[in-house]
Amino acid sequence: MENLTREDIIEILKDDSQNEALFSYADKIRKQYVGDEVHLRGLIEFSNICKRECKYCGLRCENKSVERYRIMPDDIILYAKKAVDMGYKTIVLQSGEDEYYSCDIMCKIIEGIKKLNVALTLSCGEKNYDEYKAFKNAGADRYLIRIETTDKKLYEKMHPHADFENRIRCLKDLGKLGYEVGTGCLVGLPEQTIESLADDILFFKEINADMIGIGPFIPHQQTPLKDAPSGSFNLALKVMALTRILLKNINIPATTAMETLNPNGRIIALQSGANVVMPNVTTTEYRAKYEIYPGKICINENPTQCRGCIEGKIKSIGRTISDNYGFRSN
Ligand code: SAH
Repeated sequence: MENLTREDIIEILKDDSQNEALFSYADKIRKQYVGDEVHLRGLIEFSNICKRECKYCGLRCENKSVERYRIMPDDIILYAKKAVDMGYKTIVLQSGEDEYYSCDIMCKIIEGIKKLNVALTLSCGEKNYDEYKAFKNAGADRYLIRIETTDKKLYEKMHPHADFENRIRCLKDLGKLGYEVGTGCLVGLPEQTIESLADDILFFKEINADMIGIGPFIPHQQTPLKDAPSGSFNLALKVMALTRILLKNINIPATTAMETLNPNGRIIALQSGANVVMPNVTTTEYRAKYEIYPGKICINENPTQCRGCIEGKIKSIGRTISDNYGFRSN
């Protein structure tokens, strides 16, 4: 399992007879390299306004039926403060590509949050080098930007007017600037091949990503992909398990999309290679509106309920909640 080739990965992804062995091997590697601690990241989805047209995403600008919102900078900092008071050691700020948040505004938010002595991850899409640099100087520690798929043709089909090379440039710039870099892919996009999923995993290894988020594609009714079939939970889990086996000491979240497809999805993911969970720390009013895909979990819960619920589940499988910032282990 140590030196899997592209052909090996393809074979494993195609053959479902050894899935349990694969998941338990990924779990063993997880335990050996990152231990039993689970890192909780407090997620603030601060704006659902987006200028992009990603075909799979419910927040694409053409979707006129979603009620749009923006959380104001001071309120974002307030949510972060509440999350820190609840014990979170990392805050994740995620949004659509919303130009309201200029570089200066973002830097003020970052500085406000960093005063709380917490690690900070951003996930706000494609920016230029100078913007990423300014965010880093303001104190941001990590950045998440999924490549979504490394199949350039499919990428271009899924992202009208977007440029695959620019997405790659973003990842490279973030690495150069000293961020912990997170990327990942969707599993089950229309026309996506098993071969390209193998390439995705090898790409994660090639760029030496520090965090990898993998989730199944879930069709959204107000998008051009509304009639496409949902991605497979098991295939997404296999891509995640193989990523753990190849990249070993990185941070891998048990994604919310996994739980949307399987009521126990995050716990199964935590037992198949994952070591991170990202509970939502905003109030109910925003949760349903950040509808990147339908059936998002926890939309009627408040931050305290979410924290309590996930802590209980994590402890029930013999794992512990980490008390540190949860940077990539050595
Ligand atoms: N604007 C930011 C954040 C995007 S939302 C960015 O561009 O990085 C975070 C992730 O949600 C996306 O990277 C995508 O992989 C995932 N996502 C979007 N629509 C989805 C869908 N229909 N099903 C499953 N995951 C989806």
